[in-house]
Amino acid sequence: MWHFLHPFIEIYDGLIFTLADYVQVGLGASNIFILPPAIDPLSPKNVELSPEVIAQTLSPYGMNLNHPLIVQVSRLDRAKNPWGVIDAYRLVKREVPWVQLALVASMAHDDPDTRKYFQRIADYAGGDCDVYLLTNLVGVGNVEVNAFQRVAAVVVQNSVREGFGLSVSEALWKERPVVAGNVGGIPLQIIYGKTGYLVNTVQECANRIVYLLQHPQVAERMGRAGKEYVRQNFLVTRYLRDYLKILNRLSGQVESVEEGLEYRPS
Ligand code: UDP
Repeated sequence: MWHFLHPFIEIYDGLIFTLADYVQVGLGASNIFILPPAIDPLSPKNVELSPEVIAQTLSPYGMNLNHPLIVQVSRLDRAKNPWGVIDAYRLVKREVPWVQLALVASMAHDDPDTRKYFQRIADYAGGDCDVYLLTNLVGVGNVEVNAFQRVAAVVVQNSVREGFGLSVSEALWKERPVVAGNVGGIPLQIIYGKTGYLVNTVQECANRIVYLLQHPQVAERMGRAGKEYVRQNFLVTRYLRDYLKILNRLSGQVESVEEGLEYRPS
């Protein structure tokens, strides 16, 4: 695939990658920039919502908002490992019997694969009435995703493979503690013990969720730190600033951009 893309890529003045690890060999080292994506805090998915709007938005879905809710927002596929989230939830439920789980997932109307995954995951949940498997097909759009992320006691992003993981930034922005897989761009966003927890196994994931449910002050402190971290690093304002720096550098206005933004092969 990379071999096929190479001639098309070579004609550009600059190349931007999300992570230095994603830079492919054979590109040369000049004019390559590392620029993680960002979220728009004013978009319907991230804008502030009042408790009344959250309650109203989520009322059709039937969960008890007085009981803790674990939320994962992701596509339904292997990379996001929704099965592992259900396993972790089951372990958590032994300690916190009233916990609930919402798997919020986008489904393409015409994609038989996502329908197949939906059915498999629904079967795996096995009719547990505290597990909610919700999709855009039942009206879950951007505002609903926003509300689910805001109401979550803990947000999970149990990926085993990841690009950047924008849904992690979205959850951090909403001051939620996040327990997430240690893959792709997630470690850029989760500082262990400060903005959330990175986990490698279902057991670890469950342990961290239980800990956060039992230590609401820690969860609150992490939420605040997470929002501040996103404010400094993963908002569109930072993205725009970095883009302008890259354009200045490519047009010869400045000779270099700071360490980190310009790719240096290790
Ligand atoms: N998303 C959504 N509804 C869903 C599932 C995902 O709006 O049901 C959004 C999520 O909020 C995020 C994006 O899709 O903005 C997923 O981006 P991410 O980088 O986390 O994962 P990707 O799917 O690109 O691998």
